[in-house]
Amino acid sequence: MNHSTDGIPFLDLAAQHGEIANQLDEAWAKVTSTNGFIGGPYVAAFEADYARYCGTSDCVGVANGTDAIELILRGLGIGPGDEVIVPANTFVATIEAVVEVGATPVFVDVADDVLLVTAAHIEAAITPRTAAAIIVHLYGQMPDMDAIGEVTRKAGIALIEDAAQAHGARWRDRRAGSFGHAAAFSFYPGKNLGAFGDAGAITTNDAALVRRIRSYGDHGRVLGTKHEHGVSGRNSRLDALQAAILSVKLERLDAWNAARRAAAAYYRDLLEGTDCRVLAADPRGTPVYHLEIVRVADREAVTNALDAHGIGWGLHYPIPCHQQDPFTRFAHGPCIVTEQAAREIVSVPMFPTITRREVERVCEILVAAAQGSTSGTGS
Ligand SMILES: *Cc1c(COP(=O)(O)O)cnc(C)c1O
Repeated sequence: MNHSTDGIPFLDLAAQHGEIANQLDEAWAKVTSTNGFIGGPYVAAFEADYARYCGTSDCVGVANGTDAIELILRGLGIGPGDEVIVPANTFVATIEAVVEVGATPVFVDVADDVLLVTAAHIEAAITPRTAAAIIVHLYGQMPDMDAIGEVTRKAGIALIEDAAQAHGARWRDRRAGSFGHAAAFSFYPGKNLGAFGDAGAITTNDAALVRRIRSYGDHGRVLGTKHEHGVSGRNSRLDALQAAILSVKLERLDAWNAARRAAAAYYRDLLEGTDCRVLAADPRGTPVYHLEIVRVADREAVTNALDAHGIGWGLHYPIPCHQQDPFTRFAHGPCIVTEQAAREIVSVPMFPTITRREVERVCEILVAAAQGSTSGTGS
């Protein structure tokens, strides 16, 4: 066969932005003409749109996704002496936020088929000091939120969603961001809904929590006043420019997520029965495939082959959080599934405009390299 020698990027943001270039330019121009760059009508409009999209009463724009988690914890009064259950398999930001408020992260392992925590993992880690569990919808998929909701409700602990990789994902008919006491979103440019820089948001139905978070993230200002500061807070706000961009992109989110799901389905067709293992998907949920994860026995052989063909790849995440230097002091023993997965995972190209031909090409290279590496015949 005669293949094109063009590479395939890991993520193609330019193609997505090209679809809506005019609206993005208009949104940018509107904001720059107003001179209102922090807060104001564009931020309020995005907050209202995003709350409606997620199915919550409120949304608070903040500076980034890590701040969103931290502000939720602070708003719930979680701090020193409190334990917060977290997955070992997540981006370090989840853990950083817990440590930042002075609480103790308690690492739990994940299920092998989806690499997400289960209700049983949470239940086994609950102690009298547990204040909350942070559920991370990693790679764009939600775990069994019925079972997790029941465990956290019974234990009387807060359920917090880290939905930074799951904009628009659903468990049954409800969207990520609407299950917990509050949920954190990141709009880092590469996320399913991405800004033109750093940005984040919190969704919740708890109006009192919203007031505490809005005040804390605006220098502790007493809401409605200009010069009164009720607590020593900090600065974590959503820029008007980012909000205007996000409002434009939000209209395309469902279509982009559907395109990701189609690509994920094709990856599954092509990799079935090969030495490349994909993640399972619970039929009760609707994932949004922020990342497409493949597990292989000899990762180096596979990444070398992808490099040789100019195909982008990533690792999410090769060093589990409980084995990262700043967090080893919180580790209470191994997380076997997470540690095994960390050696096997490779993230392959996944973005809404990826073509079927591109998915075919990635799979051909993956399968050949994975086979070569396990059969001992060289690659
Ligand atoms: C991206 C991400 C974050 C942090 O978001 P930032 O906006 O980069 O601070 C937190 N958790 C997870 C799972 C993420 O993927």
